[in-house]
Amino acid sequence: MINLNDDIMLAMNMRNFSYAKYSNYTVGAVLKTKNGKRYTGCNIENAGIQSICAERVAFCKAISEGEKFFESIVIVGGPKDKEPEKCLPCGYCRQFINEFVDKDFKIYTVYEDKIEEYSLEELLPYSFKI
Ligand code: ZN
Repeated sequence: MINLNDDIMLAMNMRNFSYAKYSNYTVGAVLKTKNGKRYTGCNIENAGIQSICAERVAFCKAISEGEKFFESIVIVGGPKDKEPEKCLPCGYCRQFINEFVDKDFKIYTVYEDKIEEYSLEELLPYSFKI
């Protein structure tokens, strides 16, 4: 498996920037492009409209900077100030990500000394675009 240490440290640190006053659940994400650039994200909640997940923040930052080719995303999340737990993209994010990635895109969640790897096809089996 490729070395994800830098991405994991960055994603963990991004949890500190989460704006999660309603759920108290903080998530950090690090999206890596195929040319090796990294874009970070954290969840940003809102009382009035749908909150924005860390994954979509990272994708929007990258896409708005002109990025088109994505390799992987590392997601670390859990209750505020607690150790990370298994945290995978929500259904809305899975559909969103599906628009922008190829079949080889990897999704990692990190918790309890584990790094689990998923493909989007595994997480979105019925509407995966080919
Ligand atoms: Zn989401």
